[in-house]
Amino acid sequence: MSKPYVLGIDIGGTNTVFGIVNARGHIVASDSIKTKKHTNFDDYVAELHESVERLLEANDAKDKIQGIGIGAPNGNYYTGEILNAPNLPWGPRVQLAEKVSRAFGGIPVAVTNDANAAALGEMTYGAARGMKDFIMITLGTGVGSGIVINGQIVYGHDGFAGELGHVIVKRSNGRMCGCGRSGCLEAYCSATGVARTAREFLELRTEPSTLRNLNIDTITSKDVYDAAMGGDKLAKEIFNFTGTILGEALADFVAFSSPQAIILFGGLAKSGDLLLKPIQEALDKNVLNIFKGKAKLLLSELKESDAAVLGASALGWEAKYRADMASQIPMSVDTPEVKE
Ligand SMILES: [Zn+2]
Repeated sequence: MSKPYVLGIDIGGTNTVFGIVNARGHIVASDSIKTKKHTNFDDYVAELHESVERLLEANDAKDKIQGIGIGAPNGNYYTGEILNAPNLPWGPRVQLAEKVSRAFGGIPVAVTNDANAAALGEMTYGAARGMKDFIMITLGTGVGSGIVINGQIVYGHDGFAGELGHVIVKRSNGRMCGCGRSGCLEAYCSATGVARTAREFLELRTEPSTLRNLNIDTITSKDVYDAAMGGDKLAKEIFNFTGTILGEALADFVAFSSPQAIILFGGLAKSGDLLLKPIQEALDKNVLNIFKGKAKLLLSELKESDAAVLGASALGWEAKYRADMASQIPMSVDTPEVKE
């Protein structure tokens, strides 16, 4: 009997990572290509297809792929398109699902954004197994989120729901955000937000800090982390500032959907208590009374390199299921016969 597999694809600004995943959520094999090598989207899909075929052949998985799931920035679950993704080179509207499916001989494809894919991965294989209500927050270059209510990812009426990174947390004099507005959570609590805070603190304040030995223009969140771990007071304050803003925002998110847990994912989430302590404190201090102590603050249980592919692969099974369902519905059932 041939084992069924799905393909999970994670399209990032730099790399596109793909993996063959079995029914138990084990990544059998994976590989990657450079996302921006081709500015023509058809060329990109052709290279992706070629690379995947090579991987399938090497792993005796040819003709065993049941579905393909793709996580991509601004990926739309309903239309299968990528719309206006600032870090991708293929123009404002890309027909991702349709073109990938065609390249792979009609295998069903489902698309969502990267944070929703991470939430699916966590729900299927990680810290949110068995949970029906949780919020995934991804802390990377930006702040992304996937909201799960009653076991379902919330897509909204247009497929773009769950942009909690762009909830405005500072109404006046807020920092400019990549979305064109100002004061968004992302401008403060992403890795780049932490670096911006470092620059602000170093310019506005006078106390000594090992961060002052670095070039202020190129400081990263990792530099701040290293300094804080080395006992630097100012660096620790930067994490306090970041965690407090995030915790306050999470208290509001809890009021929205009463999740069992908020799961943090991404590079910054690995900062440990430096970040988690102020988040937890601000969450406890600001959450509505009826929710006090209820929503757990958890870290992702998936290896960062695997999570995106696993999440996308979970969507691959969904694509297969969707296609199976669609093929079972007799076309004429709802169509009354029209007589001229
Ligand atoms: Zn924004």
